[in-house]
Amino acid sequence: MTGLFFSFDGIDGVGKSTQMELFCDWLRDNGHEVVQCRDPGGTQLGEALREIILHQHDMPVCTAAEMLLYMASRAQLVAEVIGPALAAGKTIVSDRFLVSNVAYQGHAGGVDVDAVWAVGAVATDGVHPDLTLVLDMPVERAASRLIGDLDRIESRGVDFLNRVREGFLLEAKRAPDRIAVLDAARDIESIQADIRVVAERVIDARGEARA
Ligand code: ADP
Repeated sequence: MTGLFFSFDGIDGVGKSTQMELFCDWLRDNGHEVVQCRDPGGTQLGEALREIILHQHDMPVCTAAEMLLYMASRAQLVAEVIGPALAAGKTIVSDRFLVSNVAYQGHAGGVDVDAVWAVGAVATDGVHPDLTLVLDMPVERAASRLIGDLDRIESRGVDFLNRVREGFLLEAKRAPDRIAVLDAARDIESIQADIRVVAERVIDARGEARA
Protein backbone atom coordinates (compact mmCIF):
# COMPACT_ATOMS: atom_id res chain seq x y z
CA MET A 1 0.00 0.00 0.00
CA THR A 2 1.46 3.34 -1.00
CA GLY A 3 -0.01 6.67 0.02
CA LEU A 4 -0.36 9.79 -2.08
CA PHE A 5 2.10 12.65 -2.10
CA PHE A 6 1.21 16.28 -2.90
CA SER A 7 3.46 19.33 -2.80
CA PHE A 8 2.76 23.06 -3.04
CA ASP A 9 5.32 25.21 -4.82
CA GLY A 10 5.76 28.72 -6.18
CA ILE A 11 7.44 31.93 -5.05
CA ASP A 12 6.76 33.38 -1.59
CA GLY A 13 3.47 35.20 -1.15
CA VAL A 14 1.44 33.26 -3.70
CA GLY A 15 -0.65 31.58 -0.97
CA LYS A 16 0.97 28.17 -0.52
CA SER A 17 0.42 27.98 3.25
CA THR A 18 -3.12 29.32 2.99
CA GLN A 19 -4.13 26.83 0.29
CA MET A 20 -2.28 23.94 1.91
CA GLU A 21 -4.23 24.29 5.18
CA LEU A 22 -7.59 24.29 3.35
CA PHE A 23 -6.50 21.38 1.17
CA CYS A 24 -5.46 19.30 4.21
CA ASP A 25 -8.81 19.98 5.89
CA TRP A 26 -10.58 18.76 2.75
CA LEU A 27 -8.41 15.65 2.54
CA ARG A 28 -9.13 14.81 6.20
CA ASP A 29 -12.87 15.35 5.64
CA ASN A 30 -12.55 12.82 2.82
CA GLY A 31 -10.98 10.17 5.00
CA HIS A 32 -7.29 10.70 4.32
CA GLU A 33 -4.77 10.33 7.11
CA VAL A 34 -2.75 13.46 6.36
CA VAL A 35 0.89 14.16 7.21
CA GLN A 36 1.91 17.77 6.65
CA CYS A 37 5.55 18.77 6.32
CA ARG A 38 7.74 21.55 5.04
CA ASP A 39 10.84 21.35 2.89
CA PRO A 40 13.38 22.36 4.09
CA GLY A 41 12.57 21.18 7.63
CA GLY A 42 10.43 18.50 9.20
CA THR A 43 13.22 16.65 11.03
CA GLN A 44 15.80 17.63 13.63
CA LEU A 45 18.50 17.86 10.94
CA GLY A 46 16.15 19.56 8.50
CA GLU A 47 15.09 22.27 10.95
CA ALA A 48 18.76 22.98 11.81
CA LEU A 49 19.56 23.28 8.10
CA ARG A 50 16.44 25.41 7.52
CA GLU A 51 17.72 27.86 10.11
CA ILE A 52 21.05 28.13 8.27
CA ILE A 53 19.47 28.36 4.81
CA LEU A 54 16.75 30.89 5.57
CA HIS A 55 17.98 32.93 8.50
CA GLN A 56 21.79 33.03 8.71
CA HIS A 57 22.07 35.88 6.23
CA ASP A 58 25.59 36.86 7.32
CA MET A 59 27.04 33.41 6.55
CA PRO A 60 28.44 33.16 3.00
CA VAL A 61 26.78 30.23 1.17
CA CYS A 62 27.39 29.76 -2.57
CA THR A 63 24.53 28.60 -4.78
CA ALA A 64 25.80 25.02 -5.13
CA ALA A 65 26.26 24.72 -1.36
CA GLU A 66 22.79 26.17 -0.82
CA MET A 67 21.34 23.58 -3.18
CA LEU A 68 23.14 20.77 -1.34
CA LEU A 69 21.91 21.98 2.07
CA TYR A 70 18.35 21.80 0.77
CA MET A 71 19.09 18.33 -0.58
CA ALA A 72 20.48 17.13 2.76
CA SER A 73 17.38 18.36 4.53
CA ARG A 74 15.17 16.68 1.92
CA ALA A 75 17.04 13.37 2.12
CA GLN A 76 16.42 13.24 5.87
CA LEU A 77 12.77 14.26 5.40
CA VAL A 78 12.19 11.43 2.93
CA ALA A 79 14.02 8.86 5.08
CA GLU A 80 12.38 9.84 8.35
CA VAL A 81 8.93 11.20 7.48
CA ILE A 82 7.75 10.91 3.88
CA GLY A 83 8.94 7.38 3.07
CA PRO A 84 7.47 5.72 6.18
CA ALA A 85 4.20 7.69 5.88
CA LEU A 86 3.75 6.68 2.24
CA ALA A 87 4.52 3.07 3.11
CA ALA A 88 1.77 3.24 5.75
CA GLY A 89 -0.73 4.50 3.16
CA LYS A 90 -0.89 8.04 4.51
CA THR A 91 -1.30 11.17 2.38
CA ILE A 92 1.67 13.55 2.46
CA VAL A 93 1.27 17.27 1.82
CA SER A 94 4.54 19.18 1.66
CA ASP A 95 5.14 22.92 1.63
CA ARG A 96 7.66 22.90 -1.28
CA PHE A 97 9.73 19.98 -2.61
CA LEU A 98 12.51 19.29 -5.13
CA VAL A 99 11.09 21.39 -7.99
CA SER A 100 11.68 24.50 -5.84
CA ASN A 101 15.44 23.75 -5.90
CA VAL A 102 15.22 23.25 -9.65
CA ALA A 103 13.53 26.64 -10.08
CA TYR A 104 15.54 28.69 -7.56
CA GLN A 105 19.08 27.29 -7.71
CA GLY A 106 18.73 25.80 -11.21
CA HIS A 107 16.71 28.02 -13.55
CA ALA A 108 17.25 31.25 -11.59
CA GLY A 109 20.56 30.56 -9.83
CA GLY A 110 22.53 29.11 -12.72
CA VAL A 111 23.23 25.60 -11.40
CA ASP A 112 22.78 23.05 -14.20
CA VAL A 113 19.09 22.08 -14.12
CA ASP A 114 19.63 18.41 -15.05
CA ALA A 115 22.27 18.21 -12.31
CA VAL A 116 19.79 19.50 -9.72
CA TRP A 117 17.27 16.85 -10.77
CA ALA A 118 20.03 14.21 -10.64
CA VAL A 119 21.19 15.17 -7.13
CA GLY A 120 17.52 15.30 -6.18
CA ALA A 121 17.02 11.72 -7.34
CA VAL A 122 19.78 10.64 -4.94
CA ALA A 123 18.43 12.75 -2.07
CA THR A 124 14.87 11.49 -2.44
CA ASP A 125 15.71 7.91 -3.42
CA GLY A 126 13.31 8.49 -6.32
CA VAL A 127 10.37 9.49 -4.11
CA HIS A 128 8.47 12.30 -5.83
CA PRO A 129 5.08 13.98 -5.49
CA ASP A 130 2.18 12.37 -7.36
CA LEU A 131 1.04 15.94 -7.94
CA THR A 132 2.82 19.27 -7.51
CA LEU A 133 0.56 22.31 -7.29
CA VAL A 134 2.42 25.37 -8.55
CA LEU A 135 0.66 28.56 -7.50
CA ASP A 136 1.48 31.23 -10.05
CA MET A 137 1.08 35.00 -10.14
CA PRO A 138 3.12 38.08 -11.06
CA VAL A 139 6.12 38.57 -8.77
CA GLU A 140 5.21 42.13 -7.77
CA ARG A 141 1.69 41.11 -6.72
CA ALA A 142 2.97 38.19 -4.66
CA ALA A 143 5.51 40.46 -2.95
CA SER A 144 2.83 43.02 -2.18
CA ARG A 145 0.92 40.37 -0.20
CA LEU A 146 3.95 40.07 2.08
CA ILE A 147 4.21 43.75 2.99
CA GLY A 148 5.00 43.95 6.68
CA ASP A 149 6.33 40.42 6.69
CA LEU A 150 9.95 41.51 6.22
CA ASP A 151 11.30 38.12 7.21
CA ARG A 152 9.80 36.58 4.15
CA ILE A 153 10.46 39.22 1.53
CA GLU A 154 13.20 37.72 -0.56
CA SER A 155 16.25 39.90 -1.00
CA ARG A 156 17.28 38.62 -4.40
CA GLY A 157 15.18 41.01 -6.41
CA VAL A 158 12.44 41.01 -9.00
CA ASP A 159 14.59 39.75 -11.91
CA PHE A 160 15.69 36.71 -9.92
CA LEU A 161 12.12 35.92 -8.86
CA ASN A 162 10.89 36.28 -12.43
CA ARG A 163 13.44 33.67 -13.48
CA VAL A 164 12.22 31.42 -10.62
CA ARG A 165 8.64 31.88 -11.81
CA GLU A 166 9.59 31.05 -15.41
CA GLY A 167 11.48 27.99 -14.14
CA PHE A 168 8.37 26.64 -12.41
CA LEU A 169 6.30 27.23 -15.55
CA LEU A 170 8.85 25.50 -17.76
CA GLU A 171 9.03 22.45 -15.49
CA ALA A 172 5.22 22.28 -15.48
CA LYS A 173 5.21 22.32 -19.28
CA ARG A 174 7.69 19.47 -19.32
CA ALA A 175 5.64 17.32 -16.92
CA PRO A 176 2.00 18.44 -17.17
CA ASP A 177 0.71 15.19 -15.63
CA ARG A 178 2.70 15.72 -12.44
CA ILE A 179 2.90 19.53 -12.14
CA ALA A 180 -0.28 21.63 -12.30
CA VAL A 181 -0.14 25.44 -12.55
CA LEU A 182 -2.93 27.40 -10.88
CA ASP A 183 -3.63 31.10 -11.29
CA ALA A 184 -3.05 32.34 -7.74
CA ALA A 185 -4.07 35.96 -8.37
CA ARG A 186 -7.67 35.21 -7.46
CA ASP A 187 -9.75 34.85 -4.31
CA ILE A 188 -8.83 32.05 -1.92
CA GLU A 189 -11.97 29.97 -2.55
CA SER A 190 -11.64 29.90 -6.35
CA ILE A 191 -8.03 28.74 -6.17
CA GLN A 192 -8.91 26.06 -3.62
CA ALA A 193 -11.78 24.81 -5.79
CA ASP A 194 -9.38 24.35 -8.74
CA ILE A 195 -6.81 22.61 -6.53
CA ARG A 196 -9.44 20.10 -5.43
CA VAL A 197 -10.47 19.37 -9.03
CA VAL A 198 -6.92 18.51 -10.14
CA ALA A 199 -6.17 16.61 -6.93
CA GLU A 200 -9.37 14.62 -7.25
CA ARG A 201 -8.24 13.36 -10.64
CA VAL A 202 -5.06 12.01 -9.10
CA ILE A 203 -6.90 10.50 -6.13
CA ASP A 204 -9.49 8.85 -8.39
CA ALA A 205 -6.80 7.49 -10.72
CA ARG A 206 -5.10 5.85 -7.74
CA GLY A 207 -8.43 4.37 -6.62
CA GLU A 208 -9.05 2.91 -10.07
CA ALA A 209 -5.56 1.46 -10.24
CA ARG A 210 -6.23 -0.34 -6.95
CA ALA A 211 -9.72 -1.58 -7.87
P1 ADP B 1 3.09 31.58 0.87
O1 ADP B 1 2.98 30.42 1.83
O2 ADP B 1 3.04 31.14 -0.56
O3 ADP B 1 4.24 32.48 1.10
P2 ADP B 1 0.77 32.62 2.30
O4 ADP B 1 -0.26 31.57 2.26
O5 ADP B 1 1.57 32.77 3.56
O6 ADP B 1 1.78 32.48 1.05
O7 ADP B 1 0.09 34.01 1.92
C1 ADP B 1 0.80 35.25 1.92
C2 ADP B 1 -0.14 36.38 2.38
O8 ADP B 1 -1.15 36.57 1.39
C3 ADP B 1 -0.86 36.06 3.68
O9 ADP B 1 -1.00 37.27 4.40
C4 ADP B 1 -2.22 35.53 3.22
O10 ADP B 1 -3.22 35.79 4.18
C5 ADP B 1 -2.45 36.34 1.95
N1 ADP B 1 -3.20 35.58 0.93
C6 ADP B 1 -3.14 34.25 0.66
N2 ADP B 1 -3.95 33.92 -0.37
C7 ADP B 1 -4.52 35.07 -0.80
C8 ADP B 1 -5.47 35.40 -1.85
N3 ADP B 1 -5.96 34.47 -2.69
N4 ADP B 1 -5.82 36.70 -1.99
C9 ADP B 1 -5.32 37.64 -1.17
N5 ADP B 1 -4.45 37.42 -0.15
C10 ADP B 1 -4.05 36.15 0.03
